[in-house]
Amino acid sequence: MPRKVSCSFCGDPIAPGTGLIFVRKDGVIYNFCTHKCERNMVGLNRKPRKVKWTEEYRKEKALRTKK
Ligand SMILES: [Zn+2]
Repeated sequence: MPRKVSCSFCGDPIAPGTGLIFVRKDGVIYNFCTHKCERNMVGLNRKPRKVKWTEEYRKEKALRTKK
């Protein structure tokens, strides 16, 4: 049974059989839905909460605007 995973960067659900898995040298596993997410996390070293199109950012924003 394929597990339901969500993208490590943008937080979108990944359909089984799609997306890509990236394993860091220290053994940390990331699941990415697209190359866009992989590039942002691995290549550009961006943090999900700093990038506007991610789930993490929207959660942050919701918390910030609540107060
Ligand atoms: Zn993604």
